[in-house]
Amino acid sequence: MGHVIIVGAGPAGVATAFLLAQRGIQVSLLEQETRFDRVFRGEGLMPSGVAALEEMGLADCLAGIPQRQLDAWDFCIEQKRRMRVVEPQGAPGQIPTHLIHQSALLKAIVERSQTFPSFQFYPGWQVQSLVSQGDRLQGVTARCGNETRDFTGDLVIAADGRYSRLRKLAGLALNQAATQFDVLWFKLPAPAELLCETVFTVCLQRQRQFAFYPSWDGRLQIGWIVAKGQAKTMGDRDWAEEFAQASPKSLASYFRQQRHQLEGPIFLDVIVGQAPKWFTEGLLLIGDAAHPMAPNRAQGINMALRDAIVVCNQLMALGRSSVWPRDRLQDALQAIQTSRQPEITAAQHLQLEEWQKIAFFTASPLIYRPFVTLATLLGRLGLVEQAWLWQQRGLRQGITSVTLEG
Ligand SMILES: Cc1cc2nc3c(=O)[nH]c(=O)nc-3n(C[C@H](O)[C@H](O)[C@H](O)COP(=O)(O)OP(=O)(O)OC[C@H]3O[C@@H](n4cnc5c(N)ncnc54)[C@H](O)[C@@H]3O)c2cc1C
Repeated sequence: MGHVIIVGAGPAGVATAFLLAQRGIQVSLLEQETRFDRVFRGEGLMPSGVAALEEMGLADCLAGIPQRQLDAWDFCIEQKRRMRVVEPQGAPGQIPTHLIHQSALLKAIVERSQTFPSFQFYPGWQVQSLVSQGDRLQGVTARCGNETRDFTGDLVIAADGRYSRLRKLAGLALNQAATQFDVLWFKLPAPAELLCETVFTVCLQRQRQFAFYPSWDGRLQIGWIVAKGQAKTMGDRDWAEEFAQASPKSLASYFRQQRHQLEGPIFLDVIVGQAPKWFTEGLLLIGDAAHPMAPNRAQGINMALRDAIVVCNQLMALGRSSVWPRDRLQDALQAIQTSRQPEITAAQHLQLEEWQKIAFFTASPLIYRPFVTLATLLGRLGLVEQAWLWQQRGLRQGITSVTLEG
């Protein structure tokens, strides 16, 4: 069986490493960090991501980590809740959205992978360059402290995230989407009443758009959306007051009282796009390296997990020979891109469309005022909740069929 070098132990890298090592493929997983904890890791896991973990046999890893399951989505405009959408819970086949401790999940999957003899994990190893012979990529050169070494194999899988160094080293392009925004991230201890149920609350005013939820650690996670490049011009702000101005009145006083406990902002640079070509001779991009995802509607983790399933299917179809025939390996890489691209394109379109709608409705008072009136009226109709869930179904359940074969 082949030897695969996987670069990056985010959701795409660890899930792919687990599936391949479980099937006897030699896997070296390189990660530049020595710890899984980072300043920020996405926490929203959509039902299709939960289903992907279950299919991989990792349901117990998910069950064993700190998490909360979402009860509802609240939409507040001008400090008033206009609509509540209850998460489908308990009905057969209905999985609620989860809010997870992503670092704990990654650690649990790596620990599970370490039970396979064909798996090797290299924390603290940062890939510096590619190793090639002629036009054939053979591996990567990585550094850990003062030590530098080559890791060679049949295939390099670049799962090194949205800034992917490997994508650049391989000369693969990234087409970025035109509509872009960034996120400012904050944390605050959650008030007791917000811990009784788990609600993802979206607050909207013309100049203020943010969302918050009680996280697995009992704190409120708050994400404030800014247009690309705008963060630098915002200056110092009384952020607690900004939140208070657009929150439901019961929460506004909490934000003001607790302003000294507010942590942040952390600036999170959002990139959305797709590499027109996900592979070269001996190298494959997956996850954000191939298609950086926006944060809204939590698509990045589940797209990464679903990439891993398709990679596993295609590589296992190459059969159990000690060397993968070069032309068949290239065909498999093409098949991976062909299989994944429609879902990624559609999901990114839906994510950006949501942002474009908000930008449109809040751009001018002439549009914004009728929008508030309409949203208030529609929010009173129960049907709108179901319509919202229906419209979101692709982002919740996946857009194409992705199933682990064998
Ligand atoms: C503000 C924001 C919020 C988000 N929130 C969510 C959310 O709630 N839910 C969701 O599903 N998605 C969310 N996303 C998207 C999600 O974070 C990504 O889509 C997802 O993490 C992609 O996984 P990945 O494995 O491809 O890459 P990453 O998670 O970025 O992992 C890449 C790994 O590669 C390592 N690495 C990088 N370079 C090297 C190198 N040279 N050598 C060795 N290792 C290297 C990095 O250290 C990292 O561990 C959010 C994104 C943003 C920007």
